[in-house]
Amino acid sequence: MRTVIYPGSFDPVTNGHLDLVHRATHLFDRVIVGVARSENKHPLFSLEERVGLVRRSVRHLPTVTVEGFDCLLVDYLDQQGAVAIIRGLRAVSDFEFEFQLALMNRKLNARCETIYMTPKETYAFLSSSIVKEIARLHGDVSAFVPAHVKKALKNKLSGPSEGRTGKG
Ligand code: ADP
Repeated sequence: MRTVIYPGSFDPVTNGHLDLVHRATHLFDRVIVGVARSENKHPLFSLEERVGLVRRSVRHLPTVTVEGFDCLLVDYLDQQGAVAIIRGLRAVSDFEFEFQLALMNRKLNARCETIYMTPKETYAFLSSSIVKEIARLHGDVSAFVPAHVKKALKNKLSGPSEGRTGKG
């Protein structure tokens, strides 16, 4: 039984994230999408909301589970008995940070392997922050996120406490 963790902020989940989840299901017996609390990134959606949005997006995938986590990723890896972490590489610009992260995680836990996956070209430019920016400016995000995420963005951004600082 090979388990992999796909960690991230998922604020909110996009079709790019989901493309990677699908690919991972072909390689691993079990995929855990680990939604990080990421308080320092001032997320637009709460941890519970982000977990709920991912869960609804993957409910047709029986080998995928979604959980929030709030500890060191390498400790989470051990707790779950996972063999690796998946991260996405969209462009060269992602590389430097991701490389640093992978080496640091391995320093903290020698067992921690990181696997990089690239999405379908259509999603290579997609990020949660771009989606939030388009939604804030009332653009159409239908091509970038599932319908329930589009609706959640609309509700959140029309509410009284519109998060203007959310990044990721
Ligand atoms: P984090 O705060 O950990 O960067 P994100 O939710 O922004 O969380 O991203 C989680 C992971 O998913 C990262 O490895 C990121 O590079 C990857 N990712 C984000 N958007 C895409 C996309 N469109 N295609 C492929 N990978 C992506």
